[in-house]
Amino acid sequence: IKSKLPDVGTTIFTVMSALATEHKAVNLGQGFPDFPMSAELTELVNEAMRNGFNQYSPMPGWMPLREAIAEKIEFLYNTRVNPYTEITITPGGTYAIYTALTAVLQPGDEVIVFEPGYDSYIPNIIVNGAVPVRINLQFPEYKINWEEVRQKITPKTRVLLLNSPHNPTGAVLGEEDIQQLRNLVQQTNIIIVSDEVYEHIIFDNIKHQSILRYPDLAQRSFVCFSFGKVYHCTGWKLGYCVAPDAFTREFRKVHQFNCFSCHTPSQVAIATFLRNKDSYLTLAPFLQKKRDYFLQLMKNTRFTMLDSKGSYFICAQYDRISDESDKDFAIRITREFGVAVIPVSAFYLNGTDNKVVRFCFGKKEETLALAAERLSRI
Ligand code: PMP
Ligand code: GLN
Repeated sequence: IKSKLPDVGTTIFTVMSALATEHKAVNLGQGFPDFPMSAELTELVNEAMRNGFNQYSPMPGWMPLREAIAEKIEFLYNTRVNPYTEITITPGGTYAIYTALTAVLQPGDEVIVFEPGYDSYIPNIIVNGAVPVRINLQFPEYKINWEEVRQKITPKTRVLLLNSPHNPTGAVLGEEDIQQLRNLVQQTNIIIVSDEVYEHIIFDNIKHQSILRYPDLAQRSFVCFSFGKVYHCTGWKLGYCVAPDAFTREFRKVHQFNCFSCHTPSQVAIATFLRNKDSYLTLAPFLQKKRDYFLQLMKNTRFTMLDSKGSYFICAQYDRISDESDKDFAIRITREFGVAVIPVSAFYLNGTDNKVVRFCFGKKEETLALAAERLSRI
């Protein structure tokens, strides 16, 4: 068959996790926690199954869950979204982003996308026959150069894809970024796809600049979220997309013929669990403590740690250790030192020369300590 994605191989997360298993390495590569999720939420999902919630849920999602999400959004972002017409439950955040792009992109449309960026974005654009227009975030703070964005906008620009807090860098958008974004899109019909799966994981009392806070931006946006990240259950693959009703109608046209509806028991369980605000408000302090602990430990290594203001990722330069490419370096330290990391070039279509790797610190303290001890020997 003629490949629709001729340049795409196996994702780096699969590659590095397999290598980690093979070499019994500590896995700070793929982003998932190694500690248990909430026992209460586990019990709620069991209870849902025992109570017979085991059949298809409605195509847009379990209604009490959509209502609980709308309440959370109102509490956090001071805006009321309609749970009937503006929220769709999806099997994960990646799927929500893919569905939003598929719903709006026509062949030849251009999508502005930042690099480094989550590795699903560009293949999602290409498989839809659209064209990724890539812009580098400014190293080492990984900030957006808005003037460059302005220059790259053309009459074909259909979508601008944002991600804050950002994977892999932990950079976050500030109020000044939002102002720039507003000025840029004002006179255009550009649609924003905003990946906010790390909305609750933001540190140092910084306020998450959700697109949902800004009605003028929200009315042109698909905003995508993931419960896997919030409740330490990445394997549940549950998320949602918030978009104005006209956008949501198009989103659901694609969604209904793809997976139709999502796993019912976990929706029933989260509908109850989400009503406890602490279930998500405690996440930032919990992970900030881990970030700070990891930073402290990494002082004993020759890595130069970069800033992480959100997400559960932190990047580091290794140029004081080696001049290998980041892929070679990541593979070698997994094999020889027993710590798996992600080479940041994997988040660029054509790689990058910056000698940077990504660590996931959403792990048990003992895991972080063991990894740092091994890394101090490099
Ligand atoms: N976006 C980003 C930036 C991510 O890091 C992830 C990672 N897991 C996702 C989307 C997707 O989340 P999910 O597992 O819910 O598909
Ligand atoms: N989001 C996770 C990461 O960046 C992994 C997702 C995946 O394996 N596709 O590590």
